[in-house]
Amino acid sequence: MPPRESGLDLKARIVDEIRARGPIPVARFFEIAVADPQHGYWQRRSIIGAGGDFITAPEISQVFGELIGLWCAVTWQGMGAPETVQLIELGPGKGTLMRDILRTLRRAMPTLHANAQVHLVEVSGPFREAQARALEGFAAKPVAWHADLADVPDAPALLIANEFLDALPIAQLAREDGRWRERVVDCTEAGDLVFALGKVVETSLPGEAPEGAIAELRQGETDLIATLAARRSPLTALFIDYGPADFAFGDTLQAMRNHAYVDALEAPGTCDLTAHVQFAQVARKAQQAGLAVDGPITQAEFLGALGLATRASRLMAANPGQAAGIELAAQRLVAPTGMGTLFKAMAVRTPSTPKPPPFS
Ligand code: SAH
Repeated sequence: MPPRESGLDLKARIVDEIRARGPIPVARFFEIAVADPQHGYWQRRSIIGAGGDFITAPEISQVFGELIGLWCAVTWQGMGAPETVQLIELGPGKGTLMRDILRTLRRAMPTLHANAQVHLVEVSGPFREAQARALEGFAAKPVAWHADLADVPDAPALLIANEFLDALPIAQLAREDGRWRERVVDCTEAGDLVFALGKVVETSLPGEAPEGAIAELRQGETDLIATLAARRSPLTALFIDYGPADFAFGDTLQAMRNHAYVDALEAPGTCDLTAHVQFAQVARKAQQAGLAVDGPITQAEFLGALGLATRASRLMAANPGQAAGIELAAQRLVAPTGMGTLFKAMAVRTPSTPKPPPFS
């Protein structure tokens, strides 16, 4: 594992770049901090979980992956149960979600389990290793890894992305004197990184922006939608992430280390960087590309409609010694003041395929 101090190397390189060529857009800073091949955040080990920086739904409760496994089964049937079928996951982290999906399918929908070709889209070397370990013995066919969704061959597909979009770099614009200016990262004489304002940009954004407003734009999302739209075979994609259903202004860039918020500029590469997913923007981009969109709905509504309570009760009955922990974990996923409302679920699909549950 690279030492925490590697953040200083990356910071020094960013400072050098700024001193040589001027301030860099927030999107470029974000990209370097997470994706630098040597010191970027995704090259670290121990990112997700108690000993890492943050926790995600599949790591909180196995019920999450089990319900999404059932979602895959019903959606696949709705698509006409194609014999050739891909199970694609974007940013699978530790591989827990896909393992729980496959475990569920093996029992609940053996034909899909046997036919599914698993494709994982993952940039991180350490995460790829963790995924290979997690999936050993769970997939019927050899698992394939890709750096980009565009590299996954075209075939009927179910695509899952939990907390993937929030990890894609964002650009920030700030409203000043009735115009938008790009937010950039500059450095002080002492070598500290600071936010500043760059050049004026022309853009059309929904809503009236008050003076001082910050808008966030995510190019990676546009590219992803274009890749989905370019596929010819039927596809249903499920995006679960955190962010508002309706477009909202605001600076939502957040950095986490050790389960606590930290300064995003202090030690790039040593902390997780995310920002809200603007679901309305994703939906708009998908519809403009000719895809159909269902939702978003809150994670509480989504998991509730898929049968969270029944599933958790069954698991508790089968494991009475762990019943309290199982219940607590399930409740956390749908907490009205936490994950249950902050997180949303939205489906994006080829219009010829029927609405997946629970939108159908
Ligand atoms: N879905 C997992 C992990 C979420 S963390 C879970 O719910 O636990 C984000 C994941 O996306 C990590 O696996 C990270 O390595 C991966 N990732 C981030 N940016 C990526 C990109 N541009 N392409 C592919 N994978 C990426």
